Amino acid sequence: MEFAPWEENWDTVIIGGGPAGVTAAIYAIRGELKTLLVEKAYTGGQIALTNEVENYPGFPSISGMELAQRLDEHLKKFETPVLNKTVERLADNPDGGYLVKLATGEKIATKTIIIATGSRPNLLVAKNAEKHYGKGVSYCAVCDAAFFKGQDVIVVGGGDAAMEEAQYLASVCGHVTIVHRREGFRAQPIAVSRTKSLPNVSFKLNYVIAEVLGDEKVTGVRLKNTQTGEEEEMATAAVFVYIGHTPNTQFAEGFQQLAETGEIFVDARMRTEKPGVFAAGDVTYRSLKQMTISVGEGATAAIEAGRYILNGEWPR
Ligand code: NAP
Repeated sequence: MEFAPWEENWDTVIIGGGPAGVTAAIYAIRGELKTLLVEKAYTGGQIALTNEVENYPGFPSISGMELAQRLDEHLKKFETPVLNKTVERLADNPDGGYLVKLATGEKIATKTIIIATGSRPNLLVAKNAEKHYGKGVSYCAVCDAAFFKGQDVIVVGGGDAAMEEAQYLASVCGHVTIVHRREGFRAQPIAVSRTKSLPNVSFKLNYVIAEVLGDEKVTGVRLKNTQTGEEEEMATAAVFVYIGHTPNTQFAEGFQQLAETGEIFVDARMRTEKPGVFAAGDVTYRSLKQMTISVGEGATAAIEAGRYILNGEWPR
């Protein structure tokens, strides 16, 4: 029989199958809530695209892909109902609770919602960057590094993602040049010092990419100095972009208050301003985007959803 979750009324619908959403599902199911997890792509979210994770307790070093697989196994162990569809909109249900509207038109009724949709990578804005996407401009080192084995590549950005993925690229590719728009780094100091210690990594600071060069494939970039405005060309086989993320909250616009950044405001109990609606993980309005924090937020949201269903209180 076809799985038709829109024919049922759920205690909680969790949107997003990254670390926050999976943890929320585990807690909700163990808390005996009738739980549905909606994920449009694959379990693990951004973590599945990360080369190596070494700050998740109990796993001194694990590949992002393996961790994502383990999250998936964990969902299966608890027989979590998972729907692989895109959520288009959220709405109040005239009969009480909420409606989760899918891009395919169905409406799922639920008492509570846990939004754990994470974020997506910011795109490089430079002449011809879009044209070369998938052909030398990449947002996923772990997916594409092998195409540039032994060749010189560029990483754009100065955050943790840029540093960590540059370290990985340095183990596969030839020389890695990190192009960053200023001299200071947003990345944690340990990530910067590790990257600096690699013999085949160098930094091009106070530069942005003005243009990606090449016809069929990338052959180089035109760099622009952010201090002087001077431009120069640099040869490269690929450009790996790590310039931050934007939260995935388009479907919640008009339904609830969003920060200017698009993130969702929550209190310490992961409650949004709408009774019964919670948010957890990288989608929430806070400065630290860490998997360890996301799983804690996912657990909190699920426990609080159970409490809300029991007593209906929403004092903030
Ligand atoms: P991020 O920390 O926001 O860093 C983005 C970097 O890109 C910044 O250095 C920023 O420069 C630069 N940038 C932004 N827009 C740019 C543009 N238009 N052109 C050129 N450069 C631009 O993003 P992230 O590295 O993706 O990390 C996201 C979050 O995940 C962070 O909270 C990070 O700590 C976390 N994370 C943690 C780990 C870990 O703990 N192992 C690993 C990866 C990510 P400015 O600094 O000048 O603004």
